[in-house]
Amino acid sequence: MNRTAIYPGSFDPLTNGHMDIIERGSHLFDRLIVAVGINTEKPGYFSVEERLEDLRVCCAKMPNVEVASFEGLLVEYARSRNSRILLRGLRAISDYDYEFRIALANRRLAAEVETVFLIAREEYSFLASSVVREVAKFGGDYAQFVPENVAKRIENRLKS
Ligand code: ADP
Repeated sequence: MNRTAIYPGSFDPLTNGHMDIIERGSHLFDRLIVAVGINTEKPGYFSVEERLEDLRVCCAKMPNVEVASFEGLLVEYARSRNSRILLRGLRAISDYDYEFRIALANRRLAAEVETVFLIAREEYSFLASSVVREVAKFGGDYAQFVPENVAKRIENRLKS
C-alpha cells in the first residue's frame, strides 16, 4: 500500500514547530504533501508564493515530501491527490476544540479520509506563526523560532 498523507496549513510563516511535524510525518508515510491553503479573503503576512518557496527550501532534503498549495475544500484536494490521510499537529488543549470540529466536519464530508494528529514536541508546544509575527513586530528574537531562510525573509520584511 502506498500511503500518501497531506499536512495542510497556513504556514504564515513556517516555524520550527511545523518543520518538526513535517520531519516526523515524513518517517510515518510513504509520501507527505505539505499543502498551503490559499485563503482569498486574507492576504496573509507572506504571500502564498513566498511561503511555498520557504517550504521548498526547508523540505529539499526530504525526498518523499512534496510542497503544494490548494484552494477550496481540503477533502476534495485530498481526493484529487489520492490521499486518505490528513496530518495535523496538536499543541495545547486549546488546539483540541478547533481541530476536533474540523476533523469531524471533514469526516462528514469524506468518510474515507482520516485525520491523524502528532503531539507537538514540548519545546515547540507554545510556538505558533502568530507568536513569531508578534515577536518580530515588537523587535524580539524571532530567529530562534523559525528556519534560517524564513528568518531572513522576516528580516527583509522588517527593513522594507
Ligand atoms: P492553520 O491555519 O491551518 O491552523 P497553521 O500553519 O497555523 O495552519 O498550522 C498548521 C498545523 O500545524 C496545525 O495542525 C497546527 O496545529 C500545527 N502546528 C502549528 N504550530 C505547531 C507547533 N509548534 N508544533 C506542532 N504543531 C504545530
